[in-house]
Amino acid sequence: MSRTTRYLETKNCNRCKSNKNFNDFRMVKPLMSGPNKGKKIGWTDVKGKTRFSICKICENSGFMKRYRLNPYNQLFHNFKKRASFAKVPFELTKDEMKIKFEKSGDRCPVFGFKFIKNATKDNRDYAPSLDRINPKEGYTKENTIVVSMLANRIKTDAKIEDIGKVYKFYKSLIKKN
Ligand SMILES: [Zn+2]
Repeated sequence: MSRTTRYLETKNCNRCKSNKNFNDFRMVKPLMSGPNKGKKIGWTDVKGKTRFSICKICENSGFMKRYRLNPYNQLFHNFKKRASFAKVPFELTKDEMKIKFEKSGDRCPVFGFKFIKNATKDNRDYAPSLDRINPKEGYTKENTIVVSMLANRIKTDAKIEDIGKVYKFYKSLIKKN
């Protein structure tokens, strides 16, 4: 009897070794380059689709690990996206951006609290972030500064004078009460 492709409904993840449904594995796209260009490398699910041998959860935890080791690739990508969204130029190189973050020290220059570098959803305000000092200008060495997400969030694209007005308004409102 000849060997035929096994169409699997479930499979053991090559990393966490648990038996999972085919939907728990990401579908493979054909390779873009190399000797196997155009081919899909993986296992075949019950519907004939090629899938990764590592489950989605394990894949994501690998991604998170890489991100924690070197968050700059992802950050660089995010800021570039933000620049194009805000229609401002992006003139920082990845190295310049990295140096900015590394030289920023470990405290927010606005609030003085310690940055949390691996912040999660719940303490994101303490994470370091890159602010454009003048929001009308782009991401350049001169126009960017590392501040906490909280400071960045409060400032958004407001003018300094506007932030002053917000401060005065709420200060007097709270005094009245
Ligand atoms: Zn797994």
